[in-house]
Amino acid sequence: TMGTVALDAAGNLSGMCTTSGMAFKLRGRLGDSPLIGAGLFVDNEVGAVTCSGQGEEVIRMAGSHTVIELMRQGLAPAEACKQAVERIIKRDVEKAKTFQVGFIALGRTGEVGAYAVQPGFSYTLTNTEQNGVLIQSPSYF
Ligand code: ASP
Repeated sequence: TMGTVALDAAGNLSGMCTTSGMAFKLRGRLGDSPLIGAGLFVDNEVGAVTCSGQGEEVIRMAGSHTVIELMRQGLAPAEACKQAVERIIKRDVEKAKTFQVGFIALGRTGEVGAYAVQPGFSYTLTNTEQNGVLIQSPSYF
């Protein structure tokens, strides 16, 4: 999945995501990316969130929407992503060792955070100070 979250000069948030789905997927499988609230959620009052990885795990907990709601309660984007990932892992720690899910979140003030189940989830950050800086997300394992 490729996802983008953005904040414009007028303070408006936006987001997108696109995916080819999972390798060897069953015909007709619907991943998280086309489902608003799962693979992508934007709330102009709170933030913009998208994610990548095992879509079934994300759909089960309406992942991107969960991150937004955690941010609405006052959590910073990074902490909200971390709590969402921990909720996925808590369901089955052994199984979680076998898949990836990573969230990226952008808040109304431009604060960015990310967190993933496994290492290897990265993103590029462009703002008034940086242009396309590659950042490795922290991860649980
Ligand atoms: N999230 C996608 C899916 O489950 C897979 C991906 O991250 O590429 O369909």
